Amino acid sequence: MHNWNIVGHEHSINILRRALAAQRVRHAYLFAGPEHIGKALLARRFAQTLLCTGGPDPHVAPLYPCNACLSCRKVMHGNHPDVHYISRPPDKQFILIEQVRALQSDSARKTLEGRRNIFIIEGMHEMNVQAANCLLKTLEEPEPDVVLLLTTTDPGLLLPTILSRVQQVPMHLLTTSQIKSALEQRWQVEPEEAALVAALAAGRMGWAVQAVEKDEMLEERQAQLETLVKLPAAGKVQRFEVAQRLSTEGDKIRGILELWLLWWRDSRELIWLC
Ligand SMILES: [Zn+2]
Repeated sequence: MHNWNIVGHEHSINILRRALAAQRVRHAYLFAGPEHIGKALLARRFAQTLLCTGGPDPHVAPLYPCNACLSCRKVMHGNHPDVHYISRPPDKQFILIEQVRALQSDSARKTLEGRRNIFIIEGMHEMNVQAANCLLKTLEEPEPDVVLLLTTTDPGLLLPTILSRVQQVPMHLLTTSQIKSALEQRWQVEPEEAALVAALAAGRMGWAVQAVEKDEMLEERQAQLETLVKLPAAGKVQRFEVAQRLSTEGDKIRGILELWLLWWRDSRELIWLC
């Protein structure tokens, strides 16, 4: 059994384990799937495994992280000097070319502690074309020890030239029962609350974990669903008021619309909640 400490996603983990077993790790992987399902977490676990020194041969990456060696602990705490994180700055619309240039200068340097120089880029679909073209140079001629771990919600938004140079690792929504049992067993959530959170999580373990840690997320999601349920019977004025309010939600709007789409799809299962 693997010990990647991840709920579900066996298929995705197997793609990575096969590469590790054959000692044929590629220079770039793209973790693709819906929001909050654990793409960045799986990328971090893979980085941890690539740098782990607790396997049978400390010079070779094991098939799963030991979670105990100094290297594993540093990756888990986000302070390993050879694991670099890149994402869109909160005040910007895109991942910028300056960030990719910094990546390139870091990737040209020798690793400080580990055997790999790892770059985790979250939200590749948020990288502008200029920056993506710049990154292409690194994908075409990577330094031997460099591994790029990219995440995206939508591979269709990436340049075909980028897609052709990465190994795709598709990730899918979990089932409600997978999430429910994980919440009960790993997070010690009571069965009733676990059932409610699992139903509202719509397949996203990451969202479920955040929801049990923050009560307001659950309340917010229930309020969003209540708004949706009332809309079909509402008049034009009320509908425009809701549209107006949504337009001020910024980054949240995508999540709200996705939730509503899923709700319509799964309405027969979820209707009892509202
Ligand atoms: Zn380790």
